[in-house]
Amino acid sequence: MQQNKPMNDQPKIADKLQSIPSGEILLDLVVIGCGPAGLSLAAESAKEGLSVGLIGPDLPFTNNYGVWEDEFKDLGLEGCIEHVWQDTAVYLDSNEPLLIGRSYGRVSRNLLHEELLRRCFEHGVTYMNSKVEKIIEECDSHSIVVCENEVVVPCRLAVVASGAASGKLLKYEAGGPRVSVQTAYGIEVEVKNNPYDPRLMVFMDYRDSMNDEVQYQNSEFPTFLYVMPMSSTRVFFEETCLASRTAMPFDLLKERLLQRLDKMGIEVLRTYEEEWSYIPVGGSLPNTDQKNLAFGAAASMVHPATGYSVVRSLSEAPTYASVIANVLKKSVQSKDIILYDRLIKRVSLQAWEALWPQERKRQRAFFLFGLELILQLDVEGIRVFFQTFFSLPNCHTNLTYI
Ligand SMILES: Cc1cc2nc3c(=O)[nH]c(=O)nc-3n(C[C@H](O)[C@H](O)[C@H](O)COP(=O)(O)OP(=O)(O)OC[C@H]3O[C@@H](n4cnc5c(N)ncnc54)[C@H](O)[C@@H]3O)c2cc1C
Repeated sequence: MQQNKPMNDQPKIADKLQSIPSGEILLDLVVIGCGPAGLSLAAESAKEGLSVGLIGPDLPFTNNYGVWEDEFKDLGLEGCIEHVWQDTAVYLDSNEPLLIGRSYGRVSRNLLHEELLRRCFEHGVTYMNSKVEKIIEECDSHSIVVCENEVVVPCRLAVVASGAASGKLLKYEAGGPRVSVQTAYGIEVEVKNNPYDPRLMVFMDYRDSMNDEVQYQNSEFPTFLYVMPMSSTRVFFEETCLASRTAMPFDLLKERLLQRLDKMGIEVLRTYEEEWSYIPVGGSLPNTDQKNLAFGAAASMVHPATGYSVVRSLSEAPTYASVIANVLKKSVQSKDIILYDRLIKRVSLQAWEALWPQERKRQRAFFLFGLELILQLDVEGIRVFFQTFFSLPNCHTNLTYI
């Protein structure tokens, strides 16, 4: 559904980047997938002096991304935010909002796509519009990335950044936590009787759950409303199920959203866009003994309890790229195949350890504990949980990874 949204304003990647050279040329790195994670890692790796090929379908960004403004500023990406709210509100059990005291922004997907492509172009990333079918490890320690129609691209290392469903190209730890899912259905609409203050972004509105009938309906899938008022009449509303073991059906999310707007007396005059959000959360980490690397959602970098990953991917891309470049540069010095093989495996291990050091794994285990708790709470429990969470001092409420 997301892929079918009309997005005519984003250029084709193939029009901006040179093609991957054909023939036997060995690339240092192939990055698979052209989402925010893949584009940012490709650009940063090429900036480190590696020859980088990017492979993935030439598709536009279609998701509506929201970020804390300060985090995007720190990344030098404030120019890619199209709307900023000076504060962010949470409604739990009264009409008095809890103010988070942090400004929130809506990312312009066109500008973010353009900026990441510009960085890829600037550093000489080459591109192929294709889907990767498999990655073969050759006996001389190089990898062969096999694309559609048996087209092959040889490289020293491959990084899989093909999003959440990357099991075809990567191995994950067996016996890990189950994958749960965050689902949301949103609409950007022109409305009459919008009760939300356009100066505030509403991160969560759980107020309707005070109503007994809604509480009953909410028992299997507790939901809240995420609201981005673009003006007093144009608003992006998203009915969100933070996490559930099985996906909450989109029809049900839509029905609940329309019922909620109706109860609030909000009249929809025109619909500009719909959003279908399906974000797998939790699950296992990738195996760190495999040669192929991963990044972004493919590398389990999605926060298990919030579903966010964009800022983490964009902010970790430079460090990860520099680790990959350093270890690859060292390993190039050996002409002995057996030694080279050992070195390249060490390269992968070092890169995996940079992405998932022990401390990060411990932190993720704690986030998974948070996810398990959210999965068990009913809507009243969730309200009490967030009441407590948002009353804690800022130093304890690390809302993202940073
Ligand atoms: C509607 C929606 C809204 C979201 N909102 C937010 C938000 O506000 N903030 C936030 O932090 N996170 C959000 N997320 C969650 C998550 O951060 C995003 O899904 C994010 O796009 C993940 O980035 P990625 O680059 O890792 O993967 P993706 O963006 O999923 O990109 C993967 C790319 O790989 C390509 N690909 C797939 N298979 C192959 C293959 N075999 N070969 C080559 N290429 C392949 C795909 O075409 C795609 O372009 C949202 C998710 C959705 C669905």
